[in-house]
This record gives sequence, structure tokens and C-alpha cells, in this order.
Amino acid sequence: MDLNLFTLIGEIVVICILVVLVLMIITSVLGLILLKNKKLVFPRILLFTLNITYPSLKSILKLLQFDDLAIDRISIDLRNRLNKDKFKELNSEDVIVVLPHCLRSTDCPAKLGTSGLECLKCGKCPIGIFKEICDKKNIGVYIVPGSTFMKNIIRKREFKGVIGVACPVDLNNAMTTLENYVTQGVYLLNDGCINTLVDVDEVIDLINVTKPVTTYTKEDFM
Ligand code: SF4
Repeated sequence: MDLNLFTLIGEIVVICILVVLVLMIITSVLGLILLKNKKLVFPRILLFTLNITYPSLKSILKLLQFDDLAIDRISIDLRNRLNKDKFKELNSEDVIVVLPHCLRSTDCPAKLGTSGLECLKCGKCPIGIFKEICDKKNIGVYIVPGSTFMKNIIRKREFKGVIGVACPVDLNNAMTTLENYVTQGVYLLNDGCINTLVDVDEVIDLINVTKPVTTYTKEDFM
């Protein structure tokens, strides 16, 4: 290989690094505006730069011992806002709710079926409340232990919109994978394999907003 080729490769590498750096700066500035001021500036540009710089930004934040989940939260918040108006137009039967297995109680009596956990609405965890409301609105509820089940659901049932609940990393990944659907995501408030927590009212508000709009609250089912 001659010297000119080495120089060309070197220049291309430097240009790529500079492009990624510029994209990371744009993502950080727009992301911080979104997180701090709840203000969405150039959403499509932010989504584009986030998708490209996601692995690099996560690694840098981890290295600097900052909260790397902030990137996932920004991405979820962004997708929620971008899809909000379209989501409100959906009929409830065209929507499904996907909940994580870890929300269930330690005493959960439900058994695992081919489409996930089959909730008995025993009242020991918020999944039962979501299921009660969704049953009234003809919304499919899937309580899944992993992404394999999600693939089964996509194969088995037609839907246009998804309300997803998961930890920030899983939820962000799922919303990216389900880009062709109208998604709304609520991330868990803590980590764990069981008894995790979610903002119950936030999930119910999303269920209520699907057509026909309803006004259920958790108190209606407690
Ligand atoms: S409400 Fe459903 S998921 Fe929750 S503990 Fe009872 S059966 Fe299990």
C-alpha cells in the first residue's frame, strides 16, 4: 500500500470522527433542552442524531460515570412526543399494551402461556388494574418476559399502536424496533426481576386516550 492510500484512509477516519463528534454535540444540546425544559427542538434531527450516536454516547456517559440511561429516557420521551397526536387518533381495538413480567407480585398466581403471563386480575399488582380497563376497551394485554414473546405477538395479532412498559433500555430498543407502529412508552421507576414499579396513572391515561376516550382511574378497580 502506498503512502497516498494511507493518507486517504487517515483523512477519512478523521472526517468520520469529526462528523460523529458534531452529531454527539447536536444530540447532547437538543437532548438537554428536551430533558430540562421539556421543550422539543428539531425533533426529527434529534431522532436521527440519537439513532446514529446512541452507542458512542452511552459508552462516554458510562466512562464518565454519568447516568447513561438518560439517553434512553430522551429517546423514549422524543418518540412519545412525535407519536402523541397519531396515537390519540387510534381506536382502542387497534392498540395493544405490552407489560413486563417483573411488574407482577411475588405471590402472582398467574401461569405463563404462549403469549406471556395469563393475568387472573387478583389485585396484587397494577397489571390487574391495566387488564381490567383494557378488557373493557377491547385492548389486548401482553405480559411478556422477553423479546421472543413480542415476536409471537406481532405474528399472531394485527395492531396499529402499542403502549409499552419496560426498563429504559428495553423500552427504547422496543420502540426503535417497532418504528412502523404508533408507540407510546412508559419506563419503569426501578430495576429488578419482580415487584418493579411504574407510574400507574401515566399508563391508565394512555389507555384512556384511545378511542372511545374514557376516564377510568385506578381507584375504580381497587
Ligand atoms: S394482578 Fe395478575 S399479574 Fe398481578 S399478581 Fe395478580 S394475577 Fe399476577
